[in-house]
Amino acid sequence: MYDVIIIGAGPAGISASLYAKRANRSVLVLYSGESQLEKAHLIDNYYGFDGGISGKELYENGIAQARSLGVEVVNEEALNVTMNASMNYEVSTAANKYEGKSLIISTGNKKLKPDIKGVEAYEGRGISYCAVCDGFFYRKKSVAVLGNEAYALSEADELENIVGKLVILTDGKPAPETDKYEVITKKISEFVGEVKLSKVVFEDGSELELDGVFIAQGVAGGADFAKKLGVTLNGSDIKVNPDMSTNLKGVFACGNATGGLLQVCKAVYEGAEAGLSAVKYIKSKEN
Ligand SMILES: Cc1cc2nc3c(=O)[nH]c(=O)nc-3n(C[C@H](O)[C@H](O)[C@H](O)COP(=O)(O)OP(=O)(O)OC[C@H]3O[C@@H](n4cnc5c(N)ncnc54)[C@H](O)[C@@H]3O)c2cc1C
Repeated sequence: MYDVIIIGAGPAGISASLYAKRANRSVLVLYSGESQLEKAHLIDNYYGFDGGISGKELYENGIAQARSLGVEVVNEEALNVTMNASMNYEVSTAANKYEGKSLIISTGNKKLKPDIKGVEAYEGRGISYCAVCDGFFYRKKSVAVLGNEAYALSEADELENIVGKLVILTDGKPAPETDKYEVITKKISEFVGEVKLSKVVFEDGSELELDGVFIAQGVAGGADFAKKLGVTLNGSDIKVNPDMSTNLKGVFACGNATGGLLQVCKAVYEGAEAGLSAVKYIKSKEN
């Protein structure tokens, strides 16, 4: 059991970990997939670096700094997050399940919607972004998961005992490693239906009748976790209070995941605030 589990090792997550660890709390940071910071060739506007610093170097320095302080920083992809009966949070990866008294989401920002015609038109009427939230509405129906990585397989696992037919669509990307599910790798042209989604049309002109499509592309982002937990979103940004708390007790968010100014300085500030707020929350739970 950890006091604080943080998903994301960018400036927001690492900053949160430093503040929580320095308050003598046990802290786990999970990271997987490229951080926005790693993509930045040169960070030239952040305090204290005359001549700038490469984003990759700053990212790696942050992880090294947290590790030196005793933070456990583990390269594993968070696939699912749930709250258990003790009001703690369980974060599942492919290999492990971790439990924390509090959770900080600092996954950066990920675009939820794929660029496929019809996605927006059928949201809530066949297109879903959360298997655990909406799977029940598709009992015994024909459903697809759109994605080609571990997160898509994890969403498929969530659905397999609920729905009827289940297929994975990769929209032209390579198939994920699975012999459990049928996989269609053809590129998708559009989602079609009347009031509700009824089929997927592929670029080669072929069609597949479906009642629902669950979007699970790339790694799960902050908004994906927020939806699973019932945390309020503003578009695809996690809605936070000034102390970085969300509407769910014990869940905090920071950095690009909360929208606003998408810069390192804001991620570091919000991370500090989230780390301190998580510590305050745990103390209140202990008293
Ligand atoms: C090309 C480019 C140039 C930029 N230039 C500047 C600049 O000059 N100055 C500036 O201030 N900002 C710049 N930025 C923006 C800056 O990089 C971001 O604002 C900042 O990195 C946000 O920090 P973050 O911690 O919120 O998210 P990120 O840095 O994106 O970190 C997200 C973390 O979450 C992890 N993660 C995501 N999903 C999962 C999951 N499911 N399981 C486990 N881990 C997960 C990732 O591995 C990563 O560790 C630039 C960005 C880009 C792309």
